[in-house]
Amino acid sequence: MRIRLLLLVLIALSSVQGIARETVIRKLTSNVVVVTPGKKQLHTLGWPNDIINSVAVKTGKGLVLIDTQNSPANARLIKNAVQDNFNDSTFVYIINTHGHSCHSGGNCIFTESQIVAQQNSEAEIKDYDDLFLGQTVEFLRKKIYHKSNVLDTISTSGVLSDSINQAIELYRFYENDLINNYHARYADLTFDETMTLNAGEKTIHLYYMGKGHGDADIAVYIRDEKVLCTGNLFHLGAYEHETMPSFYQFRVNEIDHWISTLEEILKPENAIDHVISTHGKHSFKKENLEFILDYCKAVRKEVKRAKSQQIPIESVQEITIFEDLFNQYQGIVPLNKEAREMHARNVAIIWRNIK
Ligand SMILES: [Zn+2]
Ligand SMILES: [Zn+2]
Repeated sequence: MRIRLLLLVLIALSSVQGIARETVIRKLTSNVVVVTPGKKQLHTLGWPNDIINSVAVKTGKGLVLIDTQNSPANARLIKNAVQDNFNDSTFVYIINTHGHSCHSGGNCIFTESQIVAQQNSEAEIKDYDDLFLGQTVEFLRKKIYHKSNVLDTISTSGVLSDSINQAIELYRFYENDLINNYHARYADLTFDETMTLNAGEKTIHLYYMGKGHGDADIAVYIRDEKVLCTGNLFHLGAYEHETMPSFYQFRVNEIDHWISTLEEILKPENAIDHVISTHGKHSFKKENLEFILDYCKAVRKEVKRAKSQQIPIESVQEITIFEDLFNQYQGIVPLNKEAREMHARNVAIIWRNIK
């Protein structure tokens, strides 16, 4: 009898774990949830990546989903979880925070919905198409074969073998997508600077941030719920030590645009209780964005000053002249080794992009 009871408990526990492994749902407000596949896939297009959060909003007239994961397979997982959670299967709008594959890779399964993104997302989605969906099954099988061979040479399990296994799994997802004849899907509704969507009882504001991470990054503000989704714009929340904007070294940087958009988002009438990053493990605070705005302004000012006075870049890369700013945000932003390194990198990027 006791054994039977134990067995029943074990079966119950394993099925609970089974569900938990598939998706994790985090409730932000009664109408907004963050949905994440239970298993993280480290590789997207071969770059290391973290978990991918999608955000779903119940509007009273269908659902709005922000970011569609890196593959149709993961998007389907998220879609089912959201449908079950809200007991609603109509997705009125699907918003891509930009066109990189981990934010738009699952667009094609939302056949009945309007996809909304900034106009530059088209080129980003096309890159993904060229690399994966536009490839052949043969190409992906070669990749899987190669990774499996590498895996065979590793005798101990750990971070490296986990990451290779995750890459293989992702290639299998893409292979499956090709077999299922999925295609990259582009936005139906695009905009340049801002767009306001009215869906049911919700008003959703989209703000283009300017180039810096990619070319099409937007922030999505769900006014009535006081939730702001920032896609891949900031590292904050992904790793605790990362405190900076997500500027990419070899891409164009539009610091002026970032500053004016952040000022617009942080207007006093915009209440923000939750800031959600697509790759973050934790949500972060409005104060983090205030820091980023002040930080961007300070860096722009110091870079301009140094350039006009022909002071070498190294003097701005040193954190010393920014210490007051970091002190002002103590408790919000730790000034550690990683923050210093990222600062030096940010200055180099902005230096290149300021005349
Ligand atoms: Zn990205
Ligand atoms: Zn991303």
